[in-house]
Amino acid sequence: MRLTKIFRKGKETTFKCNCCGTEYDEIPLCFGSEFPDYYYSIPPDEIEKRVELEKSLCVVDKTHFFHRGRITIPILDFNKDLYFDIWTSISPENFEFRMDCWESPNRKDFGPYFGWLQNQIPTYENTINIKSIAIEQDAGTIPEIEITEENHPLGIDQRNGITYKKAMEIVQYALKSQHE
Ligand SMILES: [Zn+2]
Repeated sequence: MRLTKIFRKGKETTFKCNCCGTEYDEIPLCFGSEFPDYYYSIPPDEIEKRVELEKSLCVVDKTHFFHRGRITIPILDFNKDLYFDIWTSISPENFEFRMDCWESPNRKDFGPYFGWLQNQIPTYENTINIKSIAIEQDAGTIPEIEITEENHPLGIDQRNGITYKKAMEIVQYALKSQHE
């Protein structure tokens, strides 16, 4: 369910990071992780040999498959949402299938694909290896990730939306961990 948004106009024209005072022209609402969590378990000198990485696809040891997707958390009382571009695992069969229909205009008709979330989302209790599904979008757009882990606060917030106040807490926390 998604409530009608109440648009805030003319408020928050600039945004300031609490940890260091950096000013932004627009509130940073899109965060992301460059790699799936699994990647960090690989010794740096083995990465080149063991990891195949493309913009939104990653294969480790030719046996562990990951793809990038987007978690959207609606902000109920604001005109933009909060995004996390993160990684989930995907089965080898589904990975291959996704590759095959990468350019297909019908790709939205395929899936969804089950996966275990591979990144920690700031401020939430453990989000590594929680259940999710990936829902295909138009060509050129990474899939939307829906958290299906039962009773997980991230899934609940994704379904119900969060307040602007809570979103700002998450943003400040996420920026702090980037700036430290
Ligand atoms: Zn900062």
